[in-house]
Amino acid sequence: MDPRTLRVWRRWLGEAFERFCLVPTCPGCGRRGLGEVMELCLPCGAELWGYEEIAAKPPGELPWVRAVWSYRGTGGRLVRRAKFARDPLALAFLARGMLRLLKAGEMPGGRPRGPWLVVPVPLSARKRRRRGFNQAQDLAQRVAERMGWELGTWVLRRVRDTTALGRVRREEREALLLGAFELGKGQRRRVLGRRILLVDDVVTTGATMRACASVLLDGGASRVLGLASCAAGGESGGK
Ligand SMILES: [Zn+2]
Repeated sequence: MDPRTLRVWRRWLGEAFERFCLVPTCPGCGRRGLGEVMELCLPCGAELWGYEEIAAKPPGELPWVRAVWSYRGTGGRLVRRAKFARDPLALAFLARGMLRLLKAGEMPGGRPRGPWLVVPVPLSARKRRRRGFNQAQDLAQRVAERMGWELGTWVLRRVRDTTALGRVRREEREALLLGAFELGKGQRRRVLGRRILLVDDVVTTGATMRACASVLLDGGASRVLGLASCAAGGESGGK
């Protein structure tokens, strides 16, 4: 068995063990042993809203970007647990939602047939050092493993930190994001002619996704689709 398959199996077994043999832990709040709704406790399950169900859709909704859940309520809680604590249960829950959407053919253009290159939206080097990981990378890795697709960790590089843009107007943010990303060193030949799935934890205006996609398309990618675990109406700082 090759190492990648082995890794997938080990993770799958770990998750199955956690789910069936231990008292279930809610990925949304970390409480144990409560009633389950899609593996969430009842209160968390009641506050999980689909991306389609939110009244205020993300303002910059792009036809080629999909999200699984709303950032409001449990969706946002799951993202924050994945982002700040690297909680494996929250990450696994979010990744499963993304996989479900991919496999159900709910992406623009239907179910993407492989092989796609899965590219996480990168953090700036400084932020990545400080946090020690990139939650988008964690999600992209799980998606790539389960789909049997290639993971392009270093395909994109963030050359400008634009995370403090929450209060900046939308047009200004878009302008600042242009030039915030570039192809990683020696990555051009990986991108050329490839179909690319861009992965992030949260999409708000879509400006970040748009900036990344334009770098990939300029680099010769044949197609780019964006997939985020949650869509926010602006409460997450404007990605
Ligand atoms: Zn819960």
